[in-house]
Amino acid sequence: MGARTKLRPTTLSKHEAQLAQCSGKKRFPNGTLAHRALKGRRKIKGREAYRCEFCGGWHLGVSSTAP
Ligand SMILES: [Zn+2]
Repeated sequence: MGARTKLRPTTLSKHEAQLAQCSGKKRFPNGTLAHRALKGRRKIKGREAYRCEFCGGWHLGVSSTAP
């Protein structure tokens, strides 16, 4: 007993860390809904919708390519 114990890393992998961030954000199934949500919030400036490579959904985040 105990011989099958495996050491598991305490740190999350990069992929898991990204998914954790996804879970904390609002996710849209497609870009149309994401951009529509952006237009509904005119008070928030500097935000844009971007597609997430990790969950395949869309999030609203701060634009990294500011003019
Ligand atoms: Zn995501």
